[in-house]
Amino acid sequence: MDTKPYVGRFAPSPSGPLHLGSLVAALGSYLQARSHNGQWLVRIEDIDPPREQPGASSLILRQLEQFSLYWDQTVCYQSQRLDSYQQFIDQCLQDHKAYFCQCSRKQIKADGGYYLGHCRHKQPKQGDLATRLMTDQPIYQFQDGLYGKVSITQALAEEDFIIQRRDGLYAYNLAVSLDDYQQGITEVVRGADLIFTTGRQLSIFKLLKQPAPRYLHLPLVYDAQGHKLSKQNHAPSISGKQAQQLLLHALGFLGQTVETGWIELSCEQILTEAVINWQLKTIPKTALR
Ligand code: GLU
Ligand code: ZN
Repeated sequence: MDTKPYVGRFAPSPSGPLHLGSLVAALGSYLQARSHNGQWLVRIEDIDPPREQPGASSLILRQLEQFSLYWDQTVCYQSQRLDSYQQFIDQCLQDHKAYFCQCSRKQIKADGGYYLGHCRHKQPKQGDLATRLMTDQPIYQFQDGLYGKVSITQALAEEDFIIQRRDGLYAYNLAVSLDDYQQGITEVVRGADLIFTTGRQLSIFKLLKQPAPRYLHLPLVYDAQGHKLSKQNHAPSISGKQAQQLLLHALGFLGQTVETGWIELSCEQILTEAVINWQLKTIPKTALR
């Protein structure tokens, strides 16, 4: 049994306001943390400026407060952690655990969509170069807290993935793992759209020689056309007035008990009830794709 005190987190990207899908991730990670008497941290993943919407970070935080989803500690901003990311990359390069790559997207597409290690031993030094991690101990499967054993395809597992893009931006898998480590996260609870990135994050923990958190992926909310709700396809944002209704809706989506009388309660009271009644076994598992 793991005896470390539970630390969970919600890690939105500020590409737009919260929508039902991100509310489900926030709520699920919150309830899982609180039902373990754990801490629940919020981290703003603002390392991709072209995809950010001005004001979205503070809007998301205000929305969380409207739902009474109050976090512990101060909010972590990835944009303030760039030195740590660079330090890790420099160390990997020095240890020959990472290398520069000049392959174009077109070349990789022609190779079947996966990067096949073309630059592993070429060590290009000139031009616009991405940095890739040498995946010499691929992760082919892991145990998910909801989905059970998850297998990762060989091609995906073995790919030397990018940790710094050619435009200099740090890659999601790098930043998220270093932050989960630095913040002492014991369990990552998030949407199942990220389930297959877990192997890459586990690889980074291996390199750090640190125990990885547990991972639990929540079902995704799809719109009427079967598309995943995302900030990119302009899912409707949440207005504070409907906070109670939306919270109950998100709870129902997660397969949790919702009593009719709860609509009269405040968000804070709904959350108190929801923590008491929280159970993983009734969460529906949507097909992974
Ligand atoms: N920032 C990511 C997103 O908003 C989530 C990262 C994570 O939970 O690992 O999709
Ligand atoms: Zn290359």
